[in-house]
Amino acid sequence: TNEDSVSASLPVPSISKSSKESRWSDTTPYASKKKLQSWLQRSNGGWELVKIISTSGTESVISLPDGKVLKVKDESLVPANPDILDGVDDLMQLSYLNEPSVLYNLQHRYNQNMIYTKAGPVLVAVNPFKKVPLYGIDYIEAYKCKAIESPHVYAITDSAIREMIRDEVNQSIIISGESGAGKTETAKIAMQYLAALGGGSGIEHEILKTNPILEAFGNGKTLRNDNSSRFGKLIEIHFSETGKISGANIQTFLLEKSRVVQCNEGERSYHIFYQLCAGAPPSLKEKLNLQSVEDYKYLRQSNCYSITGVDDAEEFRIVTDALDVVHISKGDQDNVFAMLAAVLWLGNISFTVIDNENHVQAVEDEGLFSTAKLIGCDIEDLKLTLSTRKMKVGNDIIVQKLTLSQAIDARDALAKSIYACLFDWLVEQINKSLAVGKRRTGRSISILDIYGFESFNRNSFEQFCINYANERLQQHFNRHLFKLEQEEYIQDGIDWAKVEFEDNQDCLNLFEKKPLGLLSLLDEESTFPNGTDLTFANKLKQHLNSNSCFKGERDKAFTVCHYAGEVTYDTTAFLEKNRDLLHVDSIQLLSSSKCHLPQIFASYMLTQSEKPVVGPLHKLGGADSQKLSVATKFKGQLFQLMQRLESTTPHFIRCIKPNNLQSPGSYEQGLVLQQLRCCGVLEVVRISRSGFPTRMSHQKFAKRYGFLLLENVASQDPLSVSVAILHQFNILPEMYQVGYTKLFFRTGQIGVLEDTRNRT
Ligand code: ATP
Ligand code: MG
Repeated sequence: TNEDSVSASLPVPSISKSSKESRWSDTTPYASKKKLQSWLQRSNGGWELVKIISTSGTESVISLPDGKVLKVKDESLVPANPDILDGVDDLMQLSYLNEPSVLYNLQHRYNQNMIYTKAGPVLVAVNPFKKVPLYGIDYIEAYKCKAIESPHVYAITDSAIREMIRDEVNQSIIISGESGAGKTETAKIAMQYLAALGGGSGIEHEILKTNPILEAFGNGKTLRNDNSSRFGKLIEIHFSETGKISGANIQTFLLEKSRVVQCNEGERSYHIFYQLCAGAPPSLKEKLNLQSVEDYKYLRQSNCYSITGVDDAEEFRIVTDALDVVHISKGDQDNVFAMLAAVLWLGNISFTVIDNENHVQAVEDEGLFSTAKLIGCDIEDLKLTLSTRKMKVGNDIIVQKLTLSQAIDARDALAKSIYACLFDWLVEQINKSLAVGKRRTGRSISILDIYGFESFNRNSFEQFCINYANERLQQHFNRHLFKLEQEEYIQDGIDWAKVEFEDNQDCLNLFEKKPLGLLSLLDEESTFPNGTDLTFANKLKQHLNSNSCFKGERDKAFTVCHYAGEVTYDTTAFLEKNRDLLHVDSIQLLSSSKCHLPQIFASYMLTQSEKPVVGPLHKLGGADSQKLSVATKFKGQLFQLMQRLESTTPHFIRCIKPNNLQSPGSYEQGLVLQQLRCCGVLEVVRISRSGFPTRMSHQKFAKRYGFLLLENVASQDPLSVSVAILHQFNILPEMYQVGYTKLFFRTGQIGVLEDTRNRT
């Protein structure tokens, strides 16, 4: 009854030669396919699997799962895959590639704890929000010897190792997804696999221990994720010629330092503060005059002290153990804790008004005394630093008294800077400990885990930077999976079917264009004497309103159409956060300290600003004396990152968050669909199906497999040898194409060659 390809047991997709496929629909006209099952779109947007009873060409009679029979228009039906394809482990195997089929396939697997699915070359990981029995040494062993082939982070990491060795090219594992989707957990799972396979020297233990440290200092509870990364991280793991880990290097990006002094109701500051207060032994508590979390203003304001299921005291022990492992001495650890306590006490410093011009003075109380003691500075100096500012007017230095809000800003700026320096210093110490010996082989695998795309009710400068970074990363993904792929086909004269994809270049231009892009306009306004958040917002509206990715909003706000959706930003504090000024008085205070860390921090701060920053930037005169703005510095870091990634073979993992409640077992189709759409998962599958993802130059192919030839080939040129190999191994003509310089294969074709080669 069912003569078309659907009923066939082989799930080989038909290859469409049409030049342009519409984004989500199957190319074959629906009516020409007589199918038993279809997806019916319901009024709530969800999909239901229905049985087709009869069809007239424009309308069909169907039966719903509850037995009801309905007549519906064919437009509301989407072909469903035969049951035999339920839960395939690569979406490429689906006969019908459409939204409901993909959603259903992922859900089917998810319900059975199979959280990983391939989408062509990309690994899709759906966050289980519970422990799943997929990890540990037995699984690692199984993936290592290929006893298990189902999709997994281990499998992707394994191919990275193999390709690094085979091609002698550095590799990268690029993990993306929204906040709470599981990037950081996935990165750790990949690191476990690398450590297990490349371990032996002992350095792998140190590498794994960097995770609890960086999470303690760089993660916090947000409304989206109880353990949200508030910094970006690239860890580059180096291998020796024998395939053993020889060292590692960590680069971090833009820590969200505003969290130190302020966070939303229901969120927390960085974990380490709560861990320290809960877990410090009595002697340390006494030395730092540590109180409980409720006693610190910085921690009190968001009204959230604990995380369900997390024991901060226990975490503190884990972190101190990890600090031992990465060779941070007990003395240095105490210095670190003293700096944390100093930040907490700084937040408790209050001010009293001393004259009728609203000028203030710091109150001499426990906050002030404890801070001075912990920083190792003079109490009077601290008082002066927080309530006055030295200004350069012409050639004279004058001392200006601060108003209450200015004093609070100065205090918070100092707290933020100390914390950010502490974070940088820690990363530096860790890197020293992990440093690769002098003999660098140049082979490495990098793992990228940056903060995911964020869209809150209120979005500020931090979200602006985070989402910009994600936009850059998305472009890298697009380039590798669509643009470069298709360009390569054209260059090598390959016959292929073009796939349309969502290009985000317009949005990147909106950010990066000079002089009229978001970043340039932000920097310009930040240097203007009278620039305010309002003048900035107005300038954006004035110059960018015609840009299709930009929308001006009421009250100092604007909207950007990101690849992942629209986000409205409130420009309040944009200029201040972008300038990120620290008074020179504060730097001087730290350098006057008799303690080790504050002195180091002062030198960090000085190198960041070529000349000490005295007041708002414009008072300094020439542009060359200005400190780089936060956004510009971040952009530079991102460009550098992209350059580094471009020199590697990328492996992509897309993490998907199945619900917003961080709860196991709930799979919200709409939420998943939106994430699949915005990251182009279906297009990737489409291009992989219609394309030839595996490729090798004629030379390389001949060299690699030539010795497997059973008969001599008349001509020894690489192309003839290659063709002879293809014939000998019976690779079907539709499974490969011979380009001008390279051979192109559909997925899974080279496996038999590799296996034979490895056996020989
Ligand atoms: P952010 O961008 O906010 O840093 P993220 O993508 O890094 O988010 P994670 O912190 O990795 O998200 O994951 C959030 C939570 O989801 C974890 O704390 C954990 O509870 C759960 N989770 C993620 N992946 C897994 C997994 N493979 N197994 C079990 N639980 C997981
Ligand atoms: Mg994270």
